[in-house]
Amino acid sequence: MAFIEVSNMKKSYGSLDVLKQISFDVNKNDVVAVIGPSGSGKSTMLRSLVHLEEVNGGSIRVADDYLVKDGVYSRPQEIKQITLRMGMVFQHFNLFPHLTVKENLELAPRLLKKESAAEIKNRSTDLLAKVGLLDRANAYPANLSGGQKQRVAIARALMMNPEIMLFDEPTSALDPELTGEVLQVMKHLAQEHMTMIVVTHEMGFAKEVANRVMFMDNGEIIESGHPTELFNNPQFDRTKAFLNRQ
Ligand code: ADP
Ligand code: MG
Repeated sequence: MAFIEVSNMKKSYGSLDVLKQISFDVNKNDVVAVIGPSGSGKSTMLRSLVHLEEVNGGSIRVADDYLVKDGVYSRPQEIKQITLRMGMVFQHFNLFPHLTVKENLELAPRLLKKESAAEIKNRSTDLLAKVGLLDRANAYPANLSGGQKQRVAIARALMMNPEIMLFDEPTSALDPELTGEVLQVMKHLAQEHMTMIVVTHEMGFAKEVANRVMFMDNGEIIESGHPTELFNNPQFDRTKAFLNRQ
C-alpha cells in the first residue's frame, strides 16, 4: 500500500480550476520531484496535502487515515494527527523573526508537550549539527544568509520527526551561490531514505536525487516517470515544450 494516495483531488477558486481531479501515489522512501510552469498548481497540490488549503473534491489518504475522503474532511483532531506526520519547507523560509535559531526549532515540540525539555534540546542540537549550523544556534534569522535560513527551516521541520518532507521551491528565493548548500542537505536526507516531495526548478537535482518526476501543467499531472525516462523521452508535447525552455 502506498504511503500517500491522492485520488481525484480537485480544487477551484471561483471558476478557476486549479487542480483538475489529480491522482498520484507516494511510496515510503520515494523522492518525487514536481516540475511545471508557474501557475500550474504545484503549490496548491502540496499545500492541500498538509491542509493549508481545503480541496473541493477527491481523497487524500496518509497511511491508514483519510485527511479527506470523497470531498469530506475528517475531524479536526484526526486532521492534526495526520498533518503532524508531514514536514513542510517553503520558498520564503517562514521562520519566526523574534526567536533565535534554536528557539525556532524547539517551539513546536515544546507546545506539543510530548517530550521533556532535555529531549527536545538534544534533538535540536543534533539537527543543527546535521545542517551545519550548530554555531548559529543563538543567532536571529535576520542575521543569517538565505541559505542558512532555509537550512534552519529544514531542521525545524525535522524536529517533529516527520515521515515525509514536502518542499515548495526551497531554493527559488536564494542567490545562485547559496542553492548548493540547501540542495546538499536535501540530498543527504534522501540518502537517509527520507520520503520527499520536492517542487523544484532544479532539473539537475531532480535528475540526480529523485526516483520519480511528475510534470504538472494547468492543474493536471501530464506525465510522471523515472527521471531518465521523463527527461530523455518525454511522451507529451507539453512536457517537451516545458523541458526545452529550461
Ligand atoms: P504554482 O505553484 O505551480 O506556481 P499555484 O498552486 O501557486 O501554482 O497556483 C495555481 C493557480 O491558482 C494560479 O493560477 C494561481 O493564480 C491560483 N491561485 C493560487 N492561490 C489562489 C488564491 N488564494 N486565490 C485565487 N487564486 C489562487
Ligand atoms: Mg508555487
